Amino acid sequence: MIKKLLVANRGEIAVRIIRACRELGIKTVAVYSRADKDALHVRLADESVCIGEAPARESYLKTERILCATIASGADAVHPGFGFLSENPKFANLCRKCNITFVGPDGDVIESMGDKSQARNTVAAAGVPVVPGTSEPVFDAEFGKQLADAFGYPVIIKASAGGGGKGMRIVRDQGDFIHLFETASTEAKNAFGDDSMYIEKYIEHARHIEFQILADNYGNVVHLGERDCSVQRRHQKMVEESPSVALDLRLRREMGEVAVRAARAAGYRNAGTIEFILDQNKNYYFIEMNTRIQVEHGVTELVTGLDLVKEQIRIASGERLSFSQEDIAIRGHAIECRINAECPERGFMPSPGKVLGLHLPGGNGVRIDTALTAGYTMPAMYDSLAAKVMTLGKDRGEAIAKMRGVLSEMVIDGIETNRQFQLELLSEADFVAGEIDTGFVEEFLKRRMEQEEETDGQEV
Ligand code: ADP
Repeated sequence: MIKKLLVANRGEIAVRIIRACRELGIKTVAVYSRADKDALHVRLADESVCIGEAPARESYLKTERILCATIASGADAVHPGFGFLSENPKFANLCRKCNITFVGPDGDVIESMGDKSQARNTVAAAGVPVVPGTSEPVFDAEFGKQLADAFGYPVIIKASAGGGGKGMRIVRDQGDFIHLFETASTEAKNAFGDDSMYIEKYIEHARHIEFQILADNYGNVVHLGERDCSVQRRHQKMVEESPSVALDLRLRREMGEVAVRAARAAGYRNAGTIEFILDQNKNYYFIEMNTRIQVEHGVTELVTGLDLVKEQIRIASGERLSFSQEDIAIRGHAIECRINAECPERGFMPSPGKVLGLHLPGGNGVRIDTALTAGYTMPAMYDSLAAKVMTLGKDRGEAIAKMRGVLSEMVIDGIETNRQFQLELLSEADFVAGEIDTGFVEEFLKRRMEQEEETDGQEV
């Protein structure tokens, strides 16, 4: 049994984990950088340890310091949250070596799924459909171009070590391949210290559909249905919902089974996500596995009534899943809007700063996960995610109506956010009709720019 858990993260996810531990009667230790000494996660934890200077590489990414803090505080487990060290196989292995329970899968599983090109091969060998593409890493632009020419355009160049949409380029025209490969590969080298690339057919007008998986240490693997994360900007999710309007019962069952098969093929344990691309003809293809809790896990919690963080901790403590696939029921419809400290009018430039006033609406079917408090200054060096606003309705229409109400009422004074932009997205006829694909936001932005240009023209 875990008695004391160190949360190797910050912001709303650290707060989320601390709350789950509290409910389970587990003591918590927060770690923080100097920029975070007054942060909510530090105030809520039973104990806290300063682990360094503000930049993440001097604190939240410092493996040894986090391990020292764990040992010194007498914690017997670490929850990595998402980002930072959550998908670092060395860290997971070191925890195990030090007899500390890592709330997540084994390091070798993180490693094999973290190499996205290798992950494709692993699941493909188990009969999981993958997007047509390369099976070996590609380092050379000319060689990559030969392969892409054979696949036919458009293609998408991706970094094997990729994440957060970095090191990715869509190539529509053969003549652009070399240049785009080189920029993607340089970006990958800078972001991940690894420039091994792979190439996939680019699926036009696709949806991003992902399945939540839970797997215990005894071979029990279940899925908790899907999330539709097609509302993205620059391959980054903005709005997520569950269930997806694109799936009927048959397709949900089939994709769910395939997702479970992929998790089994990976030897997976704990909570994870199998991501698919769904094309317009309802063909689905695996794109990657995320070996951690996701930002958007809350929408699954709302429709299943399960607590994923508590399940993660139970699994890591060696408990068996207390339910089987047949026990899982999806009720209602949940939506999440990511509220970021950024300015949509200025190219979504991050705009952290001091929160002068804060009003977080509540009400039936409303959940807001945030680490913001009035008077809190959001540091500039971390992620711009300010709040995750979630609503649960009896159906999609009700969830959208609630979300509109919440976003209209919510006040975050002092910093710029994308609240109004999200509200506009939710009012778009295509969104309301559920007709969305991964190009929806870019098309919306393009239309808005054209309209503005027209209005400007009229004024002249
Ligand atoms: P990351 O790990 O950087 O988030 P992913 O592989 O998960 O990268 O892809 C991010 C997004 O890029 C997807 O949600 C989707 O919108 C788009 N994408 C990735 N691969 C393809 C593909 N083969 N065809 C079409 N879109 C894709």
